[in-house]
Amino acid sequence: MVVQKFGGTSVADPDAVRRLIEIARAPRARDGRGPVVVVSALSGVTDTLLAIAAEAGAARADQALAHVGRLRERHLAMARALAGDGALAALTSQIDAQFDELTAVVCALAVLREVSLRTLDVIAAMGELLSSRIVAAALVHAGLPAEWVDARRAIVTNDDHTRAAPLMRETTAALRALVVPLVADGRVPVLGGFIGATAEGHTTTLGRGGSDYSGAIVGAGIDAGEIQIWTDVDGMLTADPRIIPQPRLVPRLSFAEAAELAYFGAKVLHPSTIHPAVERNIPVRILNSRKPGGAGTLITAEPNPDGHELTAMAAKRDLTVVDITSSRMLMAYGFLRRVFEVFERFRTAVDVVTTSEVSVSVTVDDRRHLDSIVEALSEFAEVSIEGEMALLCAVGDRLRAEPEIAARVVRVLEEMPLRMISQAASRRNITVIMRQTDLPHAMHRLHEEFFG
Ligand code: ADP
Ligand code: ASP
Ligand code: MG
Repeated sequence: MVVQKFGGTSVADPDAVRRLIEIARAPRARDGRGPVVVVSALSGVTDTLLAIAAEAGAARADQALAHVGRLRERHLAMARALAGDGALAALTSQIDAQFDELTAVVCALAVLREVSLRTLDVIAAMGELLSSRIVAAALVHAGLPAEWVDARRAIVTNDDHTRAAPLMRETTAALRALVVPLVADGRVPVLGGFIGATAEGHTTTLGRGGSDYSGAIVGAGIDAGEIQIWTDVDGMLTADPRIIPQPRLVPRLSFAEAAELAYFGAKVLHPSTIHPAVERNIPVRILNSRKPGGAGTLITAEPNPDGHELTAMAAKRDLTVVDITSSRMLMAYGFLRRVFEVFERFRTAVDVVTTSEVSVSVTVDDRRHLDSIVEALSEFAEVSIEGEMALLCAVGDRLRAEPEIAARVVRVLEEMPLRMISQAASRRNITVIMRQTDLPHAMHRLHEEFFG
């Protein structure tokens, strides 16, 4: 049985959903059951919902409501194009009820002038609640026995709103109760990705791009044979196609490589997607919903058999480098503990760390608590920060055994000032930090050298 996750562009309009329907028929024809379908919000909708929340919180209710009106129209038009006549009235009233709720929330926020993370999740979750209902109705109209499942009942998370983590034991129990019986009964369960709820029933979201993660959580929870991520590119590419115009398709990846690439910025996979698949050893495939016949990228536990020196590269922008220098000159025992305790206290993850005798440099992505972090670090160290930095990460299983490859990566970038260089124990990646303005040139140089 297969779990198929469709991203925003793969459900963006009626034609995209028609392609989805044909894609969902294929595993059913082969396996005689399934698939389980997980969908993102229609493309752009999550961004708009977050903009609506921000406008409402800033008391710009008119602007927010104008956006709400346009979103409502877009979803109703999708429903009219895709649902059967018999089901349209019910679907329309569900969509209207969702937008009436959104309107009420916007009006309340405009008065309160404050948006809590919990409320933000209620608003952000509406995109997937709507798209999943529309897709379920479209599948039914196309003759597939689809059944909408409320993902807030199936994915149980902690209460870390806007970046909640699933509680796998509870989630697996919920999936076994809600989704597995539907599959056994020959149905096609359809869930919204990205969303869940706490055990108390408060709506949560898994972080931007989190529908991939939902697809993998569902796959692991129901012991799927494969998790398919349907998107708008042919698979994992050797580099971000928004920076490198003609990257190559990577046909095979190991779980370890995929996890590194996703963590270090390959947007095609949410950073946590691979973990549930690893737990149950379920293959993940990335596929292009516009070219359903393509082979895509297959990700499994096996080391990448393709044998290229590097497998792919990834990049992250908008990083800040924090340099922390011990004021006692020599790096005292316990210094690193104190440094990282500060990042922990402010719940800020660091991506890359390098050290010298007297200083530590780290990169952070999340700037929300940066001022407080600098203040706390300044109590025992000299601190300076530098923004607009970028990370470039080259990944490949062969880096482990062949140190020459890492040396070549650094040599290719030699005319660029590299702020930090790091290779950790897994030695599956080499990561460099540079000024953001140097990133495109650096990526071109590396891509030309290793994939040109
Ligand atoms: P979806 O809405 O289907 O989840 P996303 O926009 O989240 O799609 O992810 C797909 C996008 O990821 C691609 O359109 C591409 O621009 C970007 N991307 C960045 N790095 C890579 C990479 N190495 N391989 C493939 N796509 C990448
Ligand atoms: N709709 C959510 C987002 O845009 C989740 C996703 O598409 O994966 O972040
Ligand atoms: Mg995505």
